[in-house]
Amino acid sequence: MKQSKIFIPTLREVPSEAEIKSHQYLVRAGFIRQVASGIYTFLPLGKRVLQKIENIIREEMDAIDAVEMFMPALQPAELWKETGRWYSYGAELMRMEDRHERPFVLGPTHEEVITSHIRDEIKSYKRLPLTVYQIQTKFRDEKRPRFGLLRGREFIMKDAYSFHTNKESLDETYDLMFQAYSNILKRLSLNYRAVIADSGAIGGKDTHEFMVLSDTGEDTIAYSDESDYAANIEMAEVITKYDKKQENEKPLEKVDTKDHKTIQDVAQFLHVSPSDCIKSILFVVDDEFVLALVRGDHEVNDVKLKNILDASVVEMATPEQTEEIIGCPIGFVGPIGTKNVKIIADHAIKYVVNGVCGANEVGKHFINVNPDRDFHIDQYADLRFIQEGDPSPDGKGTIKFAKGIEVGHVFKLGTRYSEAMNATFLDEKGKSQPMIMGCYGIGVSRLLAAVSEQLADEKGLVWPKSIAPYMVHLIIVNTKDQTQMDLATEIYKQLKERRIEVLFDDRHERAGVKFADADLIGIPYRIIVGKNASQGIVELKERSTGESKDIKKENLILEID
Ligand code: ATP
Ligand code: MG
Ligand code: MG
Ligand code: MG
Repeated sequence: MKQSKIFIPTLREVPSEAEIKSHQYLVRAGFIRQVASGIYTFLPLGKRVLQKIENIIREEMDAIDAVEMFMPALQPAELWKETGRWYSYGAELMRMEDRHERPFVLGPTHEEVITSHIRDEIKSYKRLPLTVYQIQTKFRDEKRPRFGLLRGREFIMKDAYSFHTNKESLDETYDLMFQAYSNILKRLSLNYRAVIADSGAIGGKDTHEFMVLSDTGEDTIAYSDESDYAANIEMAEVITKYDKKQENEKPLEKVDTKDHKTIQDVAQFLHVSPSDCIKSILFVVDDEFVLALVRGDHEVNDVKLKNILDASVVEMATPEQTEEIIGCPIGFVGPIGTKNVKIIADHAIKYVVNGVCGANEVGKHFINVNPDRDFHIDQYADLRFIQEGDPSPDGKGTIKFAKGIEVGHVFKLGTRYSEAMNATFLDEKGKSQPMIMGCYGIGVSRLLAAVSEQLADEKGLVWPKSIAPYMVHLIIVNTKDQTQMDLATEIYKQLKERRIEVLFDDRHERAGVKFADADLIGIPYRIIVGKNASQGIVELKERSTGESKDIKKENLILEID
């Protein structure tokens, strides 16, 4: 491609809204442009990188027998009502109406749509397991869209969904997916960690996040260099001892009041802001307690607690899950309107503090309970969250903290969606069973930004060869010099014949401008055709190392791999 023909609007100035280097460079180097907050156009160079990332993802998905399909971004609200997420997803869900005033959403994710298809089409165990995926635009009305493509409101995701007859089959696919994600990130030359994660708005239990290590990351991870242990700090770990006696000494009061109906009341009690409060509330039911995961950034002002709690029942861990996670038996979680939330929360917190629930065992985690968000830690001195320098829970080495960018997320969903949407199959004995599901997301556009962020240097972007927009940037120093022009044109043809992707800077610009643009754009190899052209000698420079050497045109191709 000739640079005179392509559209690469580079900028010298740092765009004022761009806080981090990947955002600055992607705008300055002409890869993306903002259309509205969190909404971007991919210009030609950005689009090329995106496509290469997509292709790597496709290869890795196809290798594990996941099949590609494509679902609509626009989805009817009915599907979201079936799972309850119409009510629980909160303000991040982009809602709209058609001309007949029928409600729709712009999909932030596709569990509902895919589960409806599978429910309608697959009835027998003989057709399972099945894994499908798509690469598609997602919409989330993020509270704080920022860092360019890292947190957009419209962004590209690869999302995969798997359906199974039994847990072992899900485990198998989960492991394959885990490996495929690792392969993808390695092929993108990313330095990453897979971490134990919190299950977020999707619900479910076994889950890992793939974190690209970067100081600009919004997540904190706790890890040990001496082992594979790594967890999102959201999964904060409490190191105190289980003490059954204390539980017996503090019987639960059951108080029935109808006063605490709004989320503000709960928030006030918990000393947290309403929006934080609704992310995690601890409930006690029938002298037992569970960790209820109330999810999402709800519009708290006009949402009654009841609505949120109704929704939370859908999101809540099942008794089995809770037992596995926090190691204590739980009772049935009923509608909460009859209980006094204040007392419930109080006891739950006390019990957590006293370590009764057993989540304090080494290697176990509370889900989504954060100090100073869900409660004030100094009020509960014996509750301690994992810190840097602590021994790793697996006994190998000490804990370190690092910042990470979440680029991928794999979940074992279990039957949360299949039960809500009635996606069942007939087993070998002709008995109807809910399908067991997994879901697996990877942020395609976020990956583009994460690679830029991790690999860029002080001059601009540095692309790994696997996803570079072009392999070679061919630069002619003086377009008015016929010898240079002839040699550059000859090299250009040669590269094209060998199917080596080349961007030919044939513009009538000063060499300084061309070099600065080339540094910004970050193509792996640069061939500079300048004053030695008459001897058939050019300069070959590698973007990542900055190393350069003069080389005869005959030997050029051999140097490029
Ligand atoms: P985050 O914690 O950053 O908000 P998430 O946990 O809400 O992400 P998931 O629902 O797990 O995201 O979606 C799967 C993947 O989609 C994420 O791992 C991430 O790579 C990508 N992703 C999520 N939200 C965004 C966004 N706003 N902009 C770009 N990519 C995103
Ligand atoms: Mg999110
Ligand atoms: Mg997350
Ligand atoms: Mg996630």
